[in-house]
Amino acid sequence: MEFTFNENQRMLRDMTRDFAAREIAPLAHTMDATGEIPDALIAKLRDAGFFGLSYPPQYGGLGLDTIAYGLVVEELARQSAGVCIMVTVHNSVGYYPLAGFGSAELQAAILPRLAAGEIASFCVSEPHAGSDAAALAATARRDQDAYVLDGAKAWVTNGSRARFFVVLARTPGTTGHRDIHAFLVERDTPGLAVAKKEDKLGLRASDTVVVSLDGVRVPAGQRLGEEGEGFKIAMSALDGGRIGVAFQALGIGRACLEEALRYARTRQAFGKPLAAQPVIQQMLADMATELDAARLLALRAAWRKDQGEPFTKEAAMAKLFASEAAGRVADLALQIHGGYGYVKEYPVERYYRDVRVTRIYEGTSEIQRLVIARAILQE
Ligand SMILES: Cc1cc2nc3c(=O)[nH]c(=O)nc-3n(C[C@H](O)[C@H](O)[C@H](O)COP(=O)(O)OP(=O)(O)OC[C@H]3O[C@@H](n4cnc5c(N)ncnc54)[C@H](O)[C@@H]3O)c2cc1C
Repeated sequence: MEFTFNENQRMLRDMTRDFAAREIAPLAHTMDATGEIPDALIAKLRDAGFFGLSYPPQYGGLGLDTIAYGLVVEELARQSAGVCIMVTVHNSVGYYPLAGFGSAELQAAILPRLAAGEIASFCVSEPHAGSDAAALAATARRDQDAYVLDGAKAWVTNGSRARFFVVLARTPGTTGHRDIHAFLVERDTPGLAVAKKEDKLGLRASDTVVVSLDGVRVPAGQRLGEEGEGFKIAMSALDGGRIGVAFQALGIGRACLEEALRYARTRQAFGKPLAAQPVIQQMLADMATELDAARLLALRAAWRKDQGEPFTKEAAMAKLFASEAAGRVADLALQIHGGYGYVKEYPVERYYRDVRVTRIYEGTSEIQRLVIARAILQE
Protein backbone atom coordinates (compact mmCIF):
# COMPACT_ATOMS: atom_id res chain seq x y z
CA MET A 1 0.00 0.00 0.00
CA GLU A 2 1.32 3.41 -1.03
CA PHE A 3 0.67 6.59 0.97
CA THR A 4 2.34 8.96 -1.47
CA PHE A 5 1.05 10.96 -4.41
CA ASN A 6 2.74 10.75 -7.78
CA GLU A 7 4.54 13.75 -9.26
CA ASN A 8 1.60 14.79 -11.41
CA GLN A 9 -0.82 14.68 -8.47
CA ARG A 10 1.56 16.73 -6.30
CA MET A 11 2.13 19.25 -9.08
CA LEU A 12 -1.60 19.75 -9.69
CA ARG A 13 -2.27 20.11 -5.96
CA ASP A 14 0.50 22.68 -5.55
CA MET A 15 -0.46 24.63 -8.66
CA THR A 16 -4.08 24.77 -7.51
CA ARG A 17 -3.00 25.82 -4.03
CA ASP A 18 -1.00 28.72 -5.50
CA PHE A 19 -3.76 29.69 -7.93
CA ALA A 20 -6.44 29.58 -5.22
CA ALA A 21 -4.35 31.60 -2.75
CA ARG A 22 -3.55 34.21 -5.38
CA GLU A 23 -6.81 34.49 -7.36
CA ILE A 24 -9.65 33.17 -5.18
CA ALA A 25 -8.74 33.93 -1.56
CA PRO A 26 -8.69 37.74 -1.95
CA LEU A 27 -12.24 37.63 -3.39
CA ALA A 28 -13.79 34.97 -1.17
CA HIS A 29 -15.29 37.30 1.43
CA THR A 30 -16.75 39.65 -1.19
CA MET A 31 -18.18 36.80 -3.26
CA ASP A 32 -19.93 35.53 -0.15
CA ALA A 33 -21.36 38.99 0.50
CA THR A 34 -22.49 39.71 -3.06
CA GLY A 35 -23.53 36.19 -4.04
CA GLU A 36 -21.60 36.51 -7.30
CA ILE A 37 -18.45 35.05 -8.80
CA PRO A 38 -16.88 37.81 -10.92
CA ASP A 39 -16.61 37.13 -14.66
CA ALA A 40 -12.90 37.95 -14.46
CA LEU A 41 -12.32 35.11 -11.99
CA ILE A 42 -14.30 32.69 -14.15
CA ALA A 43 -12.13 33.70 -17.11
CA LYS A 44 -8.99 32.98 -15.07
CA LEU A 45 -10.36 29.59 -13.98
CA ARG A 46 -11.13 28.86 -17.62
CA ASP A 47 -7.66 29.90 -18.82
CA ALA A 48 -6.04 27.79 -16.11
CA GLY A 49 -7.97 24.70 -17.28
CA PHE A 50 -10.26 24.18 -14.29
CA PHE A 51 -13.28 23.58 -16.51
CA GLY A 52 -11.44 20.75 -18.24
CA LEU A 53 -10.28 18.80 -15.18
CA SER A 54 -12.25 15.62 -15.99
CA TYR A 55 -12.54 16.07 -19.73
CA PRO A 56 -10.31 13.84 -21.87
CA PRO A 57 -7.28 15.43 -23.55
CA GLN A 58 -8.68 14.52 -26.99
CA TYR A 59 -11.44 17.06 -26.29
CA GLY A 60 -9.09 19.66 -24.83
CA GLY A 61 -9.36 18.69 -21.17
CA LEU A 62 -6.79 17.54 -18.62
CA GLY A 63 -8.23 14.04 -18.11
CA LEU A 64 -7.22 13.92 -14.44
CA ASP A 65 -7.38 10.73 -12.44
CA THR A 66 -9.80 10.89 -9.52
CA ILE A 67 -7.10 11.28 -6.87
CA ALA A 68 -5.58 14.28 -8.66
CA TYR A 69 -9.08 15.65 -9.18
CA GLY A 70 -9.83 15.28 -5.46
CA LEU A 71 -6.65 17.10 -4.48
CA VAL A 72 -7.58 19.98 -6.79
CA VAL A 73 -11.11 20.09 -5.37
CA GLU A 74 -9.78 20.22 -1.81
CA GLU A 75 -7.54 23.17 -2.66
CA LEU A 76 -10.38 25.10 -4.33
CA ALA A 77 -12.73 24.43 -1.42
CA ARG A 78 -10.00 25.53 1.01
CA GLN A 79 -10.44 29.07 -0.35
CA SER A 80 -14.04 29.17 -1.59
CA ALA A 81 -16.61 26.40 -1.39
CA GLY A 82 -18.82 28.36 -3.81
CA VAL A 83 -16.18 28.54 -6.54
CA CYS A 84 -15.35 24.91 -5.85
CA ILE A 85 -18.90 23.68 -6.44
CA MET A 86 -19.19 25.61 -9.70
CA VAL A 87 -16.11 23.76 -10.97
CA THR A 88 -17.05 20.35 -9.57
CA VAL A 89 -20.65 20.22 -10.82
CA HIS A 90 -19.30 21.07 -14.27
CA ASN A 91 -16.62 18.37 -14.05
CA SER A 92 -18.67 15.58 -12.45
CA VAL A 93 -22.47 15.38 -12.70
CA GLY A 94 -22.43 17.91 -15.57
CA TYR A 95 -19.80 15.89 -17.42
CA TYR A 96 -20.36 12.21 -16.85
CA PRO A 97 -23.85 11.73 -18.37
CA LEU A 98 -22.63 13.11 -21.70
CA ALA A 99 -19.17 11.52 -21.59
CA GLY A 100 -20.55 8.13 -20.55
CA PHE A 101 -23.83 8.00 -22.45
CA GLY A 102 -23.98 10.64 -25.19
CA SER A 103 -23.68 9.53 -28.83
CA ALA A 104 -20.23 9.81 -30.42
CA GLU A 105 -21.41 12.75 -32.55
CA LEU A 106 -22.85 14.59 -29.56
CA GLN A 107 -19.68 14.03 -27.56
CA ALA A 108 -17.47 15.25 -30.41
CA ALA A 109 -19.63 18.35 -30.81
CA ILE A 110 -20.12 19.31 -27.15
CA LEU A 111 -17.30 17.96 -24.97
CA PRO A 112 -14.69 20.36 -26.47
CA ARG A 113 -17.00 23.28 -25.72
CA LEU A 114 -17.47 22.15 -22.11
CA ALA A 115 -13.75 21.48 -21.65
CA ALA A 116 -13.09 25.00 -22.94
CA GLY A 117 -15.31 26.46 -20.24
CA GLU A 118 -18.90 26.63 -21.45
CA ILE A 119 -20.49 25.69 -18.14
CA ALA A 120 -22.59 22.57 -17.47
CA SER A 121 -25.31 21.93 -14.89
CA PHE A 122 -27.27 18.91 -13.65
CA CYS A 123 -31.05 19.04 -13.25
CA VAL A 124 -32.52 16.10 -11.37
CA SER A 125 -34.10 17.61 -8.24
CA GLU A 126 -37.53 19.19 -8.35
CA PRO A 127 -39.56 21.17 -5.83
CA HIS A 128 -41.33 17.93 -4.77
CA ALA A 129 -38.64 15.32 -5.53
CA GLY A 130 -35.18 15.43 -3.94
CA SER A 131 -34.00 12.35 -2.06
CA ASP A 132 -36.71 10.40 -3.84
CA ALA A 133 -35.46 11.38 -7.27
CA ALA A 134 -37.51 8.64 -8.95
CA ALA A 135 -40.60 10.66 -8.01
CA LEU A 136 -39.61 13.45 -10.39
CA ALA A 137 -42.54 14.84 -12.37
CA ALA A 138 -41.01 16.73 -15.32
CA THR A 139 -42.20 15.14 -18.55
CA ALA A 140 -40.60 14.30 -21.89
CA ARG A 141 -43.13 13.65 -24.63
CA ARG A 142 -41.85 12.07 -27.83
CA ASP A 143 -42.79 14.08 -30.91
CA GLN A 144 -41.34 12.66 -34.14
CA ASP A 145 -37.58 13.30 -34.12
CA ALA A 146 -37.62 15.19 -30.83
CA TYR A 147 -38.83 15.19 -27.21
CA VAL A 148 -40.84 18.01 -25.69
CA LEU A 149 -39.91 18.75 -22.07
CA ASP A 150 -42.21 20.34 -19.48
CA GLY A 151 -41.86 20.89 -15.73
CA ALA A 152 -39.62 22.61 -13.18
CA LYS A 153 -36.17 21.69 -11.90
CA ALA A 154 -35.09 22.95 -8.46
CA TRP A 155 -31.69 23.64 -6.90
CA VAL A 156 -29.80 23.84 -10.18
CA THR A 157 -26.19 24.71 -9.34
CA ASN A 158 -24.62 26.87 -12.08
CA GLY A 159 -28.10 27.43 -13.51
CA SER A 160 -27.65 31.16 -14.16
CA ARG A 161 -24.42 30.70 -16.08
CA ALA A 162 -24.80 27.24 -17.57
CA ARG A 163 -24.65 26.80 -21.33
CA PHE A 164 -25.74 23.17 -21.05
CA PHE A 165 -28.25 21.44 -18.77
CA VAL A 166 -28.37 17.70 -18.16
CA VAL A 167 -32.11 17.25 -17.59
CA LEU A 168 -34.07 14.24 -16.33
CA ALA A 169 -37.70 13.85 -17.32
CA ARG A 170 -40.20 11.02 -17.61
CA THR A 171 -42.72 9.75 -20.15
CA PRO A 172 -46.04 11.46 -19.35
CA GLY A 173 -48.41 9.40 -17.23
CA THR A 174 -45.71 7.11 -15.79
CA THR A 175 -44.35 6.64 -12.26
CA GLY A 176 -41.19 5.01 -10.88
CA HIS A 177 -37.66 5.08 -12.24
CA ARG A 178 -37.99 2.98 -15.42
CA ASP A 179 -39.54 5.65 -17.64
CA ILE A 180 -37.07 8.41 -16.84
CA HIS A 181 -34.82 9.66 -19.63
CA ALA A 182 -31.79 11.96 -19.64
CA PHE A 183 -31.22 14.81 -22.09
CA LEU A 184 -28.64 17.43 -22.86
CA VAL A 185 -30.38 20.77 -23.35
CA GLU A 186 -28.69 23.92 -24.61
CA ARG A 187 -29.44 27.15 -22.84
CA ASP A 188 -31.04 29.11 -25.66
CA THR A 189 -33.55 26.36 -26.48
CA PRO A 190 -36.95 28.10 -26.49
CA GLY A 191 -39.01 27.37 -23.35
CA LEU A 192 -36.06 26.95 -20.95
CA ALA A 193 -35.84 29.76 -18.40
CA VAL A 194 -34.27 30.51 -15.04
CA ALA A 195 -37.26 31.14 -12.80
CA LYS A 196 -35.74 32.03 -9.42
CA LYS A 197 -32.36 32.35 -7.69
CA GLU A 198 -32.19 30.88 -4.17
CA ASP A 199 -31.10 33.06 -1.23
CA LYS A 200 -28.93 30.56 0.66
CA LEU A 201 -27.41 30.21 4.14
CA GLY A 202 -23.98 29.41 2.74
CA LEU A 203 -22.21 28.67 -0.51
CA ARG A 204 -23.49 32.08 -1.47
CA ALA A 205 -21.04 32.64 -4.31
CA SER A 206 -22.51 29.65 -6.14
CA ASP A 207 -25.73 30.29 -8.02
CA THR A 208 -28.57 27.89 -7.29
CA VAL A 209 -31.72 28.38 -9.32
CA VAL A 210 -35.07 27.00 -10.35
CA VAL A 211 -35.22 26.17 -14.06
CA SER A 212 -38.59 26.06 -15.78
CA LEU A 213 -39.21 23.92 -18.84
CA ASP A 214 -42.15 24.99 -20.94
CA GLY A 215 -42.48 23.01 -24.16
CA VAL A 216 -38.69 22.72 -24.59
CA ARG A 217 -38.07 20.84 -27.85
CA VAL A 218 -34.93 18.70 -27.69
CA PRO A 219 -33.70 16.71 -30.72
CA ALA A 220 -33.74 12.93 -30.11
CA GLY A 221 -29.98 12.91 -30.74
CA GLN A 222 -29.55 14.84 -27.49
CA ARG A 223 -30.98 12.02 -25.40
CA LEU A 224 -28.24 10.54 -23.23
CA GLY A 225 -28.31 6.75 -23.14
CA GLU A 226 -31.30 4.66 -24.10
CA GLU A 227 -34.89 5.49 -23.28
CA GLY A 228 -35.48 4.63 -19.62
CA GLU A 229 -31.79 4.82 -18.63
CA GLY A 230 -32.00 8.33 -17.20
CA PHE A 231 -32.32 7.33 -13.56
CA LYS A 232 -29.40 4.88 -13.75
CA ILE A 233 -27.26 7.53 -15.47
CA ALA A 234 -28.06 10.10 -12.78
CA MET A 235 -27.31 7.69 -9.94
CA SER A 236 -23.95 6.67 -11.38
CA ALA A 237 -23.08 10.34 -12.00
CA LEU A 238 -23.86 11.00 -8.34
CA ASP A 239 -21.57 8.16 -7.21
CA GLY A 240 -18.64 10.02 -8.75
CA GLY A 241 -19.93 13.40 -7.63
CA ARG A 242 -20.00 12.26 -4.02
CA ILE A 243 -16.24 11.72 -4.04
CA GLY A 244 -15.92 15.36 -5.08
CA VAL A 245 -18.23 16.48 -2.26
CA ALA A 246 -16.09 14.51 0.22
CA PHE A 247 -12.99 16.39 -0.95
CA GLN A 248 -14.92 19.65 -0.88
CA ALA A 249 -15.92 19.04 2.76
CA LEU A 250 -12.32 18.16 3.50
CA GLY A 251 -11.13 21.43 1.98
CA ILE A 252 -13.54 23.48 4.08
CA GLY A 253 -12.60 21.45 7.16
CA ARG A 254 -8.91 22.04 6.53
CA ALA A 255 -9.57 25.76 6.23
CA CYS A 256 -11.26 25.60 9.64
CA LEU A 257 -8.35 23.76 11.23
CA GLU A 258 -5.76 26.12 9.75
CA GLU A 259 -7.67 29.19 10.93
CA ALA A 260 -8.22 27.64 14.38
CA LEU A 261 -4.49 26.87 14.72
CA ARG A 262 -3.57 30.39 13.68
CA TYR A 263 -6.04 31.94 16.10
CA ALA A 264 -5.18 29.62 19.00
CA ARG A 265 -1.49 30.48 18.68
CA THR A 266 -2.06 34.24 18.86
CA ARG A 267 -5.12 34.81 21.05
CA GLN A 268 -4.14 35.32 24.68
CA ALA A 269 -6.33 34.27 27.60
CA PHE A 270 -5.35 33.83 31.24
CA GLY A 271 -1.83 35.02 30.45
CA LYS A 272 -1.01 32.55 27.70
CA PRO A 273 -2.03 31.64 24.15
CA LEU A 274 -5.20 29.58 23.77
CA ALA A 275 -3.02 26.91 22.17
CA ALA A 276 -1.38 26.33 25.54
CA GLN A 277 -4.71 25.29 27.10
CA PRO A 278 -5.14 21.48 27.21
CA VAL A 279 -8.84 21.75 26.36
CA ILE A 280 -8.06 23.72 23.20
CA GLN A 281 -5.27 21.29 22.30
CA GLN A 282 -7.74 18.44 22.60
CA MET A 283 -10.12 20.21 20.22
CA LEU A 284 -7.32 20.76 17.71
CA ALA A 285 -6.23 17.14 17.99
CA ASP A 286 -9.77 15.90 17.38
CA MET A 287 -10.14 18.21 14.38
CA ALA A 288 -6.90 17.01 12.79
CA THR A 289 -7.74 13.35 13.42
CA GLU A 290 -11.25 13.61 11.99
CA LEU A 291 -9.96 15.32 8.87
CA ASP A 292 -7.27 12.70 8.34
CA ALA A 293 -9.86 9.92 8.65
CA ALA A 294 -12.06 11.74 6.13
CA ARG A 295 -9.08 12.16 3.79
CA LEU A 296 -8.30 8.45 3.86
CA LEU A 297 -11.90 7.52 3.07
CA ALA A 298 -12.04 10.02 0.22
CA LEU A 299 -8.73 8.82 -1.21
CA ARG A 300 -9.83 5.19 -0.99
CA ALA A 301 -13.03 5.93 -2.90
CA ALA A 302 -11.06 7.87 -5.52
CA TRP A 303 -8.48 5.09 -5.80
CA ARG A 304 -11.17 2.45 -6.35
CA LYS A 305 -12.76 4.56 -9.06
CA ASP A 306 -9.40 4.92 -10.78
CA GLN A 307 -8.83 1.17 -10.57
CA GLY A 308 -12.19 0.49 -12.22
CA GLU A 309 -13.44 -1.19 -9.01
CA PRO A 310 -17.01 -0.71 -7.75
CA PHE A 311 -17.03 2.38 -5.53
CA THR A 312 -20.68 3.23 -4.77
CA LYS A 313 -20.43 2.21 -1.10
CA GLU A 314 -17.00 3.76 -0.61
CA ALA A 315 -18.09 7.04 -2.20
CA ALA A 316 -21.14 7.16 0.08
CA MET A 317 -18.98 6.42 3.14
CA ALA A 318 -16.48 9.11 2.16
CA LYS A 319 -19.19 11.69 1.54
CA LEU A 320 -21.07 10.81 4.73
CA PHE A 321 -18.05 10.85 7.00
CA ALA A 322 -16.21 13.80 5.43
CA SER A 323 -19.28 16.05 5.44
CA GLU A 324 -20.21 15.23 9.03
CA ALA A 325 -16.59 15.42 10.25
CA ALA A 326 -16.10 18.76 8.52
CA GLY A 327 -19.27 20.01 10.20
CA ARG A 328 -17.89 19.07 13.62
CA VAL A 329 -14.53 20.63 12.75
CA ALA A 330 -16.22 23.87 11.66
CA ASP A 331 -18.15 23.96 14.91
CA LEU A 332 -14.96 23.55 16.97
CA ALA A 333 -13.12 26.15 14.89
CA LEU A 334 -15.89 28.63 15.58
CA GLN A 335 -15.81 27.75 19.28
CA ILE A 336 -12.04 28.33 19.45
CA HIS A 337 -12.59 31.79 17.98
CA GLY A 338 -15.12 32.63 20.71
CA GLY A 339 -17.21 35.68 19.84
CA TYR A 340 -14.93 36.45 16.89
CA GLY A 341 -16.04 33.17 15.32
CA TYR A 342 -19.57 34.49 15.21
CA VAL A 343 -18.86 37.56 13.09
CA LYS A 344 -17.78 38.06 9.50
CA GLU A 345 -14.43 39.59 10.46
CA TYR A 346 -12.98 36.07 10.59
CA PRO A 347 -13.54 33.52 7.82
CA VAL A 348 -14.67 30.65 10.09
CA GLU A 349 -18.14 32.18 10.15
CA ARG A 350 -18.32 31.61 6.37
CA TYR A 351 -16.84 28.12 6.56
CA TYR A 352 -19.41 27.18 9.21
CA ARG A 353 -22.24 28.21 6.87
CA ASP A 354 -20.63 26.78 3.73
CA VAL A 355 -19.92 23.34 5.13
CA ARG A 356 -23.53 22.65 6.09
CA VAL A 357 -24.73 21.88 2.59
CA THR A 358 -22.21 19.06 2.11
CA ARG A 359 -24.53 16.97 4.31
CA ILE A 360 -27.46 17.76 2.02
CA TYR A 361 -26.60 17.86 -1.67
CA GLU A 362 -25.72 14.93 -3.93
CA GLY A 363 -27.66 12.82 -1.43
CA THR A 364 -28.25 13.71 2.22
CA SER A 365 -26.44 11.94 5.06
CA GLU A 366 -29.57 9.85 5.57
CA ILE A 367 -29.50 8.73 1.94
CA GLN A 368 -25.76 7.89 2.16
CA ARG A 369 -26.59 5.66 5.13
CA LEU A 370 -29.30 3.93 3.08
CA VAL A 371 -26.80 3.34 0.25
CA ILE A 372 -24.18 1.97 2.65
CA ALA A 373 -26.67 -0.23 4.50
CA ARG A 374 -28.02 -1.64 1.24
CA ALA A 375 -24.49 -2.48 0.11
CA ILE A 376 -23.37 -4.19 3.32
CA LEU A 377 -26.62 -6.12 3.64
CA GLN A 378 -26.06 -7.49 0.12
CA GLU A 379 -22.41 -8.41 0.70
C1 LIG B 1 -27.07 24.51 -2.50
C2 LIG B 1 -27.71 23.33 -3.17
C3 LIG B 1 -27.29 22.96 -4.44
C4 LIG B 1 -27.90 21.88 -5.09
N1 LIG B 1 -27.53 21.58 -6.37
C5 LIG B 1 -28.23 20.64 -7.06
C6 LIG B 1 -27.99 20.43 -8.46
O1 LIG B 1 -27.10 21.05 -9.07
N2 LIG B 1 -28.77 19.55 -9.12
C7 LIG B 1 -29.75 18.83 -8.50
O2 LIG B 1 -30.42 18.02 -9.16
N3 LIG B 1 -30.01 19.02 -7.17
C8 LIG B 1 -29.27 19.90 -6.45
N4 LIG B 1 -29.54 20.10 -5.11
C9 LIG B 1 -30.63 19.37 -4.49
C10 LIG B 1 -30.19 18.35 -3.45
O3 LIG B 1 -29.57 17.26 -4.07
C11 LIG B 1 -31.41 18.00 -2.61
O4 LIG B 1 -31.71 19.12 -1.81
C12 LIG B 1 -31.20 16.77 -1.76
O5 LIG B 1 -31.09 15.62 -2.56
C13 LIG B 1 -32.31 16.57 -0.74
O6 LIG B 1 -33.57 16.65 -1.34
P1 LIG B 1 -34.70 17.62 -0.71
O7 LIG B 1 -34.10 18.94 -0.50
O8 LIG B 1 -35.89 17.53 -1.60
O9 LIG B 1 -35.02 16.98 0.69
P2 LIG B 1 -36.03 15.76 0.98
O10 LIG B 1 -35.77 14.66 0.03
O11 LIG B 1 -37.40 16.29 1.07
O12 LIG B 1 -35.55 15.31 2.42
C14 LIG B 1 -35.88 16.02 3.60
C15 LIG B 1 -35.27 15.29 4.78
O13 LIG B 1 -35.82 13.98 4.87
C16 LIG B 1 -34.77 13.02 4.85
N5 LIG B 1 -35.23 11.82 4.13
C17 LIG B 1 -35.80 11.74 2.91
N6 LIG B 1 -36.04 10.46 2.59
C18 LIG B 1 -35.60 9.71 3.63
C19 LIG B 1 -35.56 8.31 3.90
N7 LIG B 1 -36.00 7.40 3.01
N8 LIG B 1 -35.04 7.90 5.08
C20 LIG B 1 -34.58 8.79 5.97
N9 LIG B 1 -34.57 10.13 5.77
C21 LIG B 1 -35.08 10.58 4.62
C22 LIG B 1 -33.63 13.69 4.11
O14 LIG B 1 -32.38 13.09 4.41
C23 LIG B 1 -33.75 15.10 4.64
O15 LIG B 1 -33.14 15.19 5.89
C24 LIG B 1 -28.91 21.14 -4.43
C25 LIG B 1 -29.29 21.50 -3.14
C26 LIG B 1 -28.72 22.58 -2.51
C27 LIG B 1 -29.19 22.97 -1.14
